[in-house]
Amino acid sequence: MNKLEYKKKHISTILTDEEVKKMNEFCLSYKKFLGNKTERECVKDIVRIARENGFVDIDTIDKLKPNDKVYVVNKNKNVLMCVVGSEDIKNGINLIVSHIDSPRLDLKQNPLYEDNDMALLKTHYYGGIKKYQWTCIPLSMHGVIYNKNNEVIEINIGDNEDDEVFCITDLLPHLAKDQLQKKLVDSIEAEKLNVLVGGSLIDDEEIKDKVKYSILKILNERYGIVEKDFLTAEIELVPAFNAREVGFDKSFIGGYGQDDRVCTYDSLRSIIDMDNPKKTCISLFVDKEEIGSVGNTGMKSNFFYSCVCDIISKLDDKWNINTVNRILSNSMCISADVTNASDPNYKNVDDKKNTNYIGYGAAISKFTGSRGKSGASDANSEFLRELTNIFDRNNVVWQIGELGKVDIGGGGTIAMYITDYNMDVIDVGVPILSMHSPFEIASKYDIYMTYLAYISLFKN
Ligand code: MN
Ligand code: MN
Repeated sequence: MNKLEYKKKHISTILTDEEVKKMNEFCLSYKKFLGNKTERECVKDIVRIARENGFVDIDTIDKLKPNDKVYVVNKNKNVLMCVVGSEDIKNGINLIVSHIDSPRLDLKQNPLYEDNDMALLKTHYYGGIKKYQWTCIPLSMHGVIYNKNNEVIEINIGDNEDDEVFCITDLLPHLAKDQLQKKLVDSIEAEKLNVLVGGSLIDDEEIKDKVKYSILKILNERYGIVEKDFLTAEIELVPAFNAREVGFDKSFIGGYGQDDRVCTYDSLRSIIDMDNPKKTCISLFVDKEEIGSVGNTGMKSNFFYSCVCDIISKLDDKWNINTVNRILSNSMCISADVTNASDPNYKNVDDKKNTNYIGYGAAISKFTGSRGKSGASDANSEFLRELTNIFDRNNVVWQIGELGKVDIGGGGTIAMYITDYNMDVIDVGVPILSMHSPFEIASKYDIYMTYLAYISLFKN
């Protein structure tokens, strides 16, 4: 037997029938969770699931004790869940951070116009998208808009079977000779990502824009809003279809927003399933990762730091800023984000010895960034060894890889902002295919195994 060489095993060859059954159940509830298509909807659902599992708003508790379960919501787009450990919190916490925003099309502040007797909405894309992938698919509309009484209207149109959907049209091949000669990156311009929303004219001589007006009339009747209300609205367009099982053997989940709702769901289930941990466990769900972790709901905001202050103040009367800094520098963190899985059609972008593969488990990235590790936190060997020892002790199948060949591209995660707290952090997530597309693919084996990886950190 060859005991010297490192050989990987596909998870399907390891799991027992019982474990496969558990995996399928887990992935079917995950598939349902993907019905949350915006950061706001994720926060709402996470809070609902948290409350159902005994978590309470931290503001309702004066003193925290071991195994208390609390949550904190930040501006409806960012949420933290915590289970208090039995050990002194000064020894550090175990933290898992994932992001709940995904690439999409946002409505511009002044979106509605008409052309050729059709009404359209102008958009401004959010995050890194390949624009051609967003034409000719059904889109649903989600978000918030205030009416004249300053009441918030929650928009959610297009995901139910009976709802209308929206769409960005594209040129027919017969007339696309010039378009098809363009570079892929230029073939669809951002200013052409205009969404078709109407085609009936109002019968009124005094109105100039007759289709636009008829749409405004519908919106006014339905929601009590006028055109000016769009100026302060926040509305996102996302793929209208539901997540599905993919393949004859149903090995995969396909759906929109799996970057990073797959790691979000794994992290959520891990904290829900924690009882009486030794270390205090925190799952943090952040917004704005796709545009650089900026904004008051992104990882760069001091929300997380102030939550830790809040938690320590409810555990111990005697604390100061040094106590908080001590806790943070003694802590371990998994930056829970997806990575690229080697695609059989595009193997040319990978270093095959150092890439992640579908079905081979939780994918660790020691560093991210690009061009000579620029912009990476690059976890140290001590922490990497400690964490993989935890995984090994808990029979977690894991792999380690890089995002593509050196110098071919790159990307970043929230990891580097966590290291500002002098905390040990490393990226561990699910490898996926077609990342940032309207229909991303993840393997059930990796989804389930990454959950086992996260909960093993919490149990440590
Ligand atoms: Mn991500
Ligand atoms: Mn992303």
